[in-house]
Amino acid sequence: MKPKHIDQISDKVLTVVWDDGHESIYFSDHLRKNCPCAHCAKRREQGEEDKPFKILNINPQDITFTSWRVMGNYAMSFRFSDGHHTGIYPFEKLRELCQCDICTGNAIRVTGRSE
Ligand SMILES: [Zn+2]
Ligand SMILES: [Zn+2]
Repeated sequence: MKPKHIDQISDKVLTVVWDDGHESIYFSDHLRKNCPCAHCAKRREQGEEDKPFKILNINPQDITFTSWRVMGNYAMSFRFSDGHHTGIYPFEKLRELCQCDICTGNAIRVTGRSE
């Protein structure tokens, strides 16, 4: 599975059209919170899942995409406004993190996002 088209809608919202036709939407804070790098994975294991931004001097709602790039044929990486950029998101992982209405069941969307 690969992205066919990637569009940055705003500094907090990115959309991906996959080669199977699925249209994904990603919010910067959601991707930051689920960062797959070893450091963040360890923090989540240690029970920081509910407050992954505890160590950051930034409000989670203020996390934005600074830049992003596609890495070869297997992953994307993002640089966030808190300076974090070591996470590599394999396409499969990225697809799991999709926040479209279908994937979220249309009910989990947190209110208060600026879309
Ligand atoms: Zn990380
Ligand atoms: Zn989806």
